[in-house]
Amino acid sequence: MAQSGQRRNSIFSTANSSLSHTHQTSAVLDFVAIGLGPFNLSLACLADPIRELNGLFLERNEDFDWHPGMLIDDTTLQNPFLADLVSLADPRSPFSFLNYCKQEGKLYAYYIRERFYLSRAEYNRYCKWAIGRLSSIRFGANVERVDYDEEAGHYVVSGLEVRNARAFSYRAKRLVIGVGSVPQLPACCGAVREHCIHSAHYVARKAELQQKRSIAVIGSGQSAAEIFYDLLKDSNEFGYTLTWITRSPRFFQMENTKLTLEMISPDYIDYFYNLPDGVRESIVAKQDSLYKGVNASLINQIYDLLDDRRSRGERHAHLVTNSELTGCDYDPVEARYHLRFAQRDEGVQYTHATDGAIFATGYTQNVPGFIDGIRSRIRWDDMGRYRLSRNYAIDVTGRDIFVQNAGLYSHGLTNPDLGMSCYRNSCILRALTGVEHYPIERRIALQDFSVPDTDAFVKMPLETP
Ligand SMILES: Cc1cc2nc3c(=O)[nH]c(=O)nc-3n(C[C@H](O)[C@H](O)[C@H](O)COP(=O)(O)OP(=O)(O)OC[C@H]3O[C@@H](n4cnc5c(N)ncnc54)[C@H](O)[C@@H]3O)c2cc1C
Repeated sequence: MAQSGQRRNSIFSTANSSLSHTHQTSAVLDFVAIGLGPFNLSLACLADPIRELNGLFLERNEDFDWHPGMLIDDTTLQNPFLADLVSLADPRSPFSFLNYCKQEGKLYAYYIRERFYLSRAEYNRYCKWAIGRLSSIRFGANVERVDYDEEAGHYVVSGLEVRNARAFSYRAKRLVIGVGSVPQLPACCGAVREHCIHSAHYVARKAELQQKRSIAVIGSGQSAAEIFYDLLKDSNEFGYTLTWITRSPRFFQMENTKLTLEMISPDYIDYFYNLPDGVRESIVAKQDSLYKGVNASLINQIYDLLDDRRSRGERHAHLVTNSELTGCDYDPVEARYHLRFAQRDEGVQYTHATDGAIFATGYTQNVPGFIDGIRSRIRWDDMGRYRLSRNYAIDVTGRDIFVQNAGLYSHGLTNPDLGMSCYRNSCILRALTGVEHYPIERRIALQDFSVPDTDAFVKMPLETP
């Protein structure tokens, strides 16, 4: 590998700026990566020192911002700083978080602060810093179509420059799709969806929400808890009442004890990947508390603030569990939502009227329209999802089209986790180049997820009743 972090002199010499003129190059790239979230950005950093690999990263936004709608003050990553863009693949990489601290003169401050969990704002600054050192990224490039040129045997990626609507087109042997997921509203919001604010837009809509007399927060994941706490802190100042309603039976904690964290490992991916489709499906359905809950310290902070308010005799918020949203109407004259919930344990339904509502109801996998032209080259499962091979390829050859963050039902809960980004990208780079540039860990867990393969454990088929 060549010296990392050096800018490459290549056809990408206008790199790292918004597109300024039409790009139509006949050179065939080794790969085009579509979307620049943390996963493809990690790939860009790890690919950068591999001189023989010519890749291009296309992002429709004109700049990088990591979930800007949720950049709430004092929120942190769920992972320690080692889950940066590169360190778990190559701790010596110039794109590491520690090198960022060093270059920015922040390393001693970070050492003294002793906080392993980066604030989300700091992570965002770190990602921007890394982008500033890369020459393979095109911002403002909205990919609209991908075709396969049968004769030439490569892909044609085309779209429009966001700023001036000019067409671009690139040819590449391989693709890496990293377009993330899209905000999801409950189905019952369909008719009034233009009035519904999703947590993905919270920061931009916060001031408007805080002018309301009442606000309901729907959902009980990490985003819902962060929004509820953020609004709760200001509720005395603004005077709104706050209601937090969830379908879940409790405001549950995200599990993060060490033996559970071992499930974010190559070992668990191997185990999970080799199970039958239906079994994997039912396992995912039971794993909510591993990636959907709230971190324990935030639950405790919320409790302490509510308890403090109660002991001062101040207005306190309503927290309601076991309530599934089944209807959502918006009255534009009153500017008021009428939410309907089912409480199935008690066999009742109820309505709740509120002036403001924020839906922290999660995200859903994004199968982008631009793949329509290559649908027949992609492997699909019975549910219409990509069928991933073990190396994250989704195409019929198993070595052409790779995906980031799209394998919850094939690779398990490691799929959206920033901590496994380096592992996945090491595997993708090995598939792209045929060389294991970054050593890939095979076994890291203390526990066995499968029956251990030693004489002490004698395996036989399960008896059917
Ligand atoms: C608020 C929030 C906090 C999270 N915190 C953590 C955490 O602490 N730890 C953790 O492990 N995970 C966390 N996650 C989960 C996960 O790590 C993040 O969602 C992460 O951003 C996913 O990265 P990504 O690269 O898949 O997609 P994204 O970050 O969504 O990026 C996808 C990019 O693709 C671009 N794009 C889409 N379509 C096109 C197109 N047609 N042409 C060009 N570009 C396109 C988009 O503009 C976007 O920039 C969090 C998720 C959320 C929502």
